[in-house]
Parts: sequence; structure tokens; C-alpha cells
Amino acid sequence: SEELLKLNKLYVDYKVKEGYLSAVKKVSFSINKGEIFAIVGESGCGKSTIAHSILRLLPEHNEIIKGNIFFNGEDLHEYTDKQLESIRGREIGMIFQNPLDSLNPVYTTGFQVAEGIMLDNVSKQEAWNRVINLYNDVKMPDAEKRAKSFPHELSGGMRQRVMIAMMLSRTPQLLIADEPTTALDVTIEAQILNIIKTLRDEYNTAVMLITHNFGLVAEVADKVAVMYAGEVVEQGTVFDIFDNPKHPYTKLLMKSLPRKAKSEGRLQTINGSVPRLTENKPGCRFENRCPYVMDICKIKDTERRIVTESHFFNCHLEKGGE
Ligand code: ATP
Ligand code: SF4
Ligand code: MG
Repeated sequence: SEELLKLNKLYVDYKVKEGYLSAVKKVSFSINKGEIFAIVGESGCGKSTIAHSILRLLPEHNEIIKGNIFFNGEDLHEYTDKQLESIRGREIGMIFQNPLDSLNPVYTTGFQVAEGIMLDNVSKQEAWNRVINLYNDVKMPDAEKRAKSFPHELSGGMRQRVMIAMMLSRTPQLLIADEPTTALDVTIEAQILNIIKTLRDEYNTAVMLITHNFGLVAEVADKVAVMYAGEVVEQGTVFDIFDNPKHPYTKLLMKSLPRKAKSEGRLQTINGSVPRLTENKPGCRFENRCPYVMDICKIKDTERRIVTESHFFNCHLEKGGE
């Protein structure tokens, strides 16, 4: 399988009152074409920061980014804003938790989808026909009527369908979906995920799926990166992470998932609290909560432990938690 997106030692620090907040630390992973890659972790662990840094959507002049982001082998940091803009939407699509933020309240949803299509020199009528087809593809109820509706006239699930239709109209190679279903009820959530899966199957679109929900991960993802306090602590196939977790944090998470939760559970939190990210000291960031903590964990950054070709974790324990 071919590599589409590659993060190489990505660091993102936000400038804050106290100095700098290390939101993402030394994150490396790659996503292959057609792969559904999930990023899971507690609130504040840096998931959205990663997504936003890929498309240069971080609040400007407020952060420091180090490391590389390669897309189809090209370093996105070397792109001008204009070059990056030409990729946004077209090569890399994005859907967010709250579609209202991305939709313009004063135009009908159909017009907004058609606008993107017309950029490719497509006539108005033809663009409109495509919009209706796309709305049918994303199972929009009453497609014609909804295309003529304004964003505020639609439900959350319908708005998310608009976003997906908009994204589909450009057939991107990568879809970044940041908690796309968190605001939706369970039935709609399942439908939206099915659409995302179909997208992958039909267009070979790779998906970066950011979520709190392990049930979703188990259902749709091929690979999973588990994040904690700005770092990827473990990465593997769904099978690796659910059936053979190695990192003490992943192990605790898996234990805290009730049996049923593998299909419907939300991420549980565990005892203790996340370290202050403004105190960016060396050592393992999980040290104050880890049942296996050793002296070295408090002073030295962790090492990458390779389990198999598809599976690694970052820890001072060679074999991970028992
Ligand atoms: P959630 O699951 O709640 O969406 P997340 O994993 O997406 O969380 P981020 O939004 O990436 O987490 O935030 C990572 C850290 O960076 C948090 O500590 C957050 O408070 C901080 N942060 C995010 N945006 C900014 C910003 N613009 N300025 C300063 N700090 C920020
Ligand atoms: Fe626990 Fe140490 Fe591993 Fe961190 S490095 S997870 S503190 S054993
Ligand atoms: Mg987020």
C-alpha cells in the first residue's frame, strides 16, 4: 500500500500567557492510500491540533511548529499559502464536529456545494444536478428540498451530510474527519460512518478519523493511534490495540472499557490528571498516573518499542505493561 500522508516528528507549541504550551510532541505516523486511520485520546490531548496543522488552520502567529508533514511525498511546510489553499478541499477534505461553523448562513446549502463544483467550469444547471445526485449519495432525505434550504433549517445530521457531499464533490485523496459524529445521535452517527466507509471503498479515499469513541474505532478503522497529553503513546491495527495493547495507558483504557463498550462505548478517563502542558519537562507524560512508573520515566523521554511491523508503543518498559 502506498503512503499518502506522513508526519515526521511533529511538534506544535502554542504561545500562551505562561509561555509555551506543548500541545503536540514528536508525533510521527503515516496514513496509506485508502486507509481509515483513527486518532483517539482524551479531550485536550492534541488531536485537533494535528488536524489543523496539516491544513495550516492553526491560529496564526500563535504557535511554533517543528517537524515535517509530507503529502504524496511533498513537504507541506514548503508550500506557500496559495499552494496550500489549492490542496485544501480538493486533495484534502475536512469535516468538523460542528458543520455550522463551516457553512455560510446566508446561502442555501445546495448553492454552497454547487459553488465548488462550478470552479471546474461546470455549468450552473449541471452543477445543480450533481448536487442533487450527491445529496442522494449521502442519503439526504428529500434531497431537492434540502438543497434549497439554508443551513439553519437543517438538522445536525443533515448538515454533516451537506459537508460530506461538499467534500465528495471534490473527491479528495484524504478526508480529515474531526469528531464528525459527536454531536449526532447514534442512528445518524452510524449512517454517517457508513457513508465515510463507502467513500473509502468507492474512491479509495484515506480517512483520518478523530474521535473519543472506541466503538467507532473498532467498527470502521484499519489503524489506530492512541494519544496522551500531546504524544502518540501507541499505534497499531485495530486488532493490535484492542487485543494486544502494550502501553500502560492503552492497557488501562482497554480495561476500563466495559465489554459492551467495544461496540458503543465512549472513552473512559482514568485516575489522576494530565500534566500541565506548559511545563514541558523531559520524561514520560504519563508518569504520574502509571502503575509501572520507574525513576527513569520521570527524567528521560520514552523510547519507541517495536512489537510488529504494524505495532509500536513509546515507553521505558521494553515489553510494555504486563
Ligand atoms: P478535544 O477532544 O477536546 O477536541 P483535542 O485532542 O482536539 O481535544 P486540542 O484542541 O488539539 O485537543 O488541544 C490540545 C492542547 O492545546 C489543549 O491543552 C488545548 O487547551 C491547547 N490549545 C488548543 N488550541 C489552542 C490555542 N489556540 N492556544 C493555546 N492553546 C491551545
Ligand atoms: Fe509508565 Fe514509564 Fe512507560 Fe511512562 S515510560 S508509560 S511511566 S512505564
Ligand atoms: Mg478536538
